[in-house]
Amino acid sequence: MPEVTVIGAGLSGSEAALAAASLGVRVKLIEMRPTRMTPAHRTANFAELVCSNSLGGEADTNAKGLLQAEMRSVRSAVMDAAFAARLPAGGALAVEREDFSARVTRAVRDHPLIHVTEGEATELPQGIAVLATGPLTSDALSAALRNVTGADHLSFYDAAAPVVAFDSIDMSVAFRAGRYDQSADYINCPMNREEYERFHSAIEQARGHTPHDWEKLEFFDGCMPIEEIARRGFDTPRFGPMSPKGLDDPRTGRWPYAVVQLRQEDREGRMWSLVGFQTGLKWGDQKTVLQLIPGLQNAEIVRYGVMHRNTYLNAPESVTDTLALRARPTLFVAGVLAGTEGYLESAATGWLAGLNAARLALGEAPVTPPAESMLGGLVRYLASANPKNFQPMNTNWALVPDLSPEVIAQKFGEKRRKIGKREKRPLMYRRGLAAFQDWARGVGLTVEDVRPPEKAPEEEAALAG
Ligand SMILES: Cc1cc2nc3c(=O)[nH]c(=O)nc-3n(C[C@H](O)[C@H](O)[C@H](O)COP(=O)(O)OP(=O)(O)OC[C@H]3O[C@@H](n4cnc5c(N)ncnc54)[C@H](O)[C@@H]3O)c2cc1C
Repeated sequence: MPEVTVIGAGLSGSEAALAAASLGVRVKLIEMRPTRMTPAHRTANFAELVCSNSLGGEADTNAKGLLQAEMRSVRSAVMDAAFAARLPAGGALAVEREDFSARVTRAVRDHPLIHVTEGEATELPQGIAVLATGPLTSDALSAALRNVTGADHLSFYDAAAPVVAFDSIDMSVAFRAGRYDQSADYINCPMNREEYERFHSAIEQARGHTPHDWEKLEFFDGCMPIEEIARRGFDTPRFGPMSPKGLDDPRTGRWPYAVVQLRQEDREGRMWSLVGFQTGLKWGDQKTVLQLIPGLQNAEIVRYGVMHRNTYLNAPESVTDTLALRARPTLFVAGVLAGTEGYLESAATGWLAGLNAARLALGEAPVTPPAESMLGGLVRYLASANPKNFQPMNTNWALVPDLSPEVIAQKFGEKRRKIGKREKRPLMYRRGLAAFQDWARGVGLTVEDVRPPEKAPEEEAALAG
């Protein structure tokens, strides 16, 4: 009987093992807890939620809602357990954490094709395998992985700057330019002295996230958080990442007092990150500070800045959109290690890695979901994002293509070629879910008839135009 190995029984590994076993493939699952614990896990349960107990919003305006629906369509074990263990939480899918992970553990342990081995894997497995060892992958296995991917392609901490959606940047304020007339690859948000003073005082007052002892990082010059740079002096950011040198503002013909630069993150230019703005500020305060930057006053933050310990691959350098390692195509990666962030994203990439490992073991080619689906958008991003300063990514609407003006005109009439997010996202949700389900049927999977959450009749009427 064909066999695959899965290392790690967290969110991604548990889902990977069950996805592979559901195709009739024997699975050897290796998990080091409880023999060896990570600094964040507290139990021996599989799929332990180490912090919050939420898998994100369910609404059809929410990008996580689409990913949840895709996962439910293919009978994800994590989604099954989440629904069985759910707690009331408004529009979010929150769970009773012990019940949730006990259910996943039972599903894995009771599966006749899955054999669980307890202990730390210190070498990469031979044969077809999924590596799902998460943000706290043990040192020995990290070293083995670095030997295959190259040392530069595995990071041990995340010092990430916020990323914003392009269509939320006010380009009547921001301008495209490179320093000293180099190619205009950057978007620049100019500040006058007054705006800079306001920004500097807000960042000084903003509150930071308090890391666990084991998460504390030394700040290297290259990854100093912006709040720390600001704390060192009024002008320090202006002489560092906010330097205006060589950037002529087309409206004045002069260099501004300070500039925040944004660099393109994805091939399509839907996401832009703030250069040199890695930050550990609390998310609420981060948003307040960011929206003081001219041009970003209505910015939609698709990924907040974070600073914490995290083991992850530079996905665009090392992973394909089927989640196979470029350097060893029989080895698939999933979860945070593959460059995603979040419980749901980990489970979803675990499902795809498990599916593809099983397909390979059965003599079939690995597959990837369509670009319009959230899972398809996420894995395409991993494989093709800007590898320079790559940071793990969570689900968001900028991962999937926007609706074309033609589609909008078809739905809302020729006079309305632009629509707001509240109207657009439910359409993107339905488009993505339909594409995902068609694709899943096409690759031979049984698909559940999952539908978008019910809407109030007046909302339906508004959407129907
Ligand atoms: C402190 C912290 C808080 C977080 N909070 C949230 C949050 O609130 N919400 C959210 O959505 N995401 C959160 N995340 C991010 C991420 O979604 C979770 O870490 C998620 O559990 C990742 O899933 P995973 O499958 O990649 O890794 P994990 O769920 O951590 O699973 C990895 C498994 O591999 C095992 N393992 C590691 N090395 C080996 C080895 N050598 N041999 C055998 N087994 C091994 C581990 O014991 C673990 O069981 C947090 C991360 C951290 C570190």
